[in-house]
Amino acid sequence: MFNLGHLLSKLQYAKCVLCEANAHNTLGICQACWQDLPWQINTCCPQCGLTSSNVTCGQCLSQPPFYDATQALFEYAYPIDALLQAFKYQQQLYLGHMFAQISLKKFQPTDIDCIVPMPMHPARLQERGFNQSLELANGIAKQLHLPVASKHSHRIKNTPPQASLPLKARVKNIKGAFSCDDYFVGKHVAIVDDVMTSGASLNELAKTLKQAGANKVSCWVVARTY
Ligand SMILES: [Zn+2]
Ligand SMILES: [Zn+2]
Repeated sequence: MFNLGHLLSKLQYAKCVLCEANAHNTLGICQACWQDLPWQINTCCPQCGLTSSNVTCGQCLSQPPFYDATQALFEYAYPIDALLQAFKYQQQLYLGHMFAQISLKKFQPTDIDCIVPMPMHPARLQERGFNQSLELANGIAKQLHLPVASKHSHRIKNTPPQASLPLKARVKNIKGAFSCDDYFVGKHVAIVDDVMTSGASLNELAKTLKQAGANKVSCWVVARTY
């Protein structure tokens, strides 16, 4: 059957999205550019994903976040930052598909029961036209045969963008922003998001999920800032 999406993705992937050399793969990144990507270094705190010698960092020990684990594909640096911006603000949806494919090569889906995209407020959704985290979550979940629980988790407060605020204000800004129903009782939930900066949004969502009965929360993000 004719499938336009499939055809478009084939066209996009013929050339590397970064250097336009022949990509020779379905990911859309040639071998040389692939090796140059700012991959997340291996030694990081398993809980928050910040640099540490593979043990829980002092910050997580003294003030544990509500999420239990963090896996990040990349450091938020060039060209990942540019690709994520193109994905989000120029609606380059094939990049979301590409990041979902790369995620599948890296994320360890141990005992995950369901995937939750970082919810977007309906007003923001209307502005942007799509939720980038939902695109990523759908791509990942489909391959892993996991349910996407986007109908059970909502953003009930339309807050100013976190990026515009200093850390303390971010925590306050996001407080009470989410609501989750009892679908999550007893589940290990993986939250999918594009970028993790202070982790304040992920932490607030993890807190809300735990209050709704989730027993474990992992964060899967494309890129992490340090
Ligand atoms: Zn290339
Ligand atoms: Zn940590």
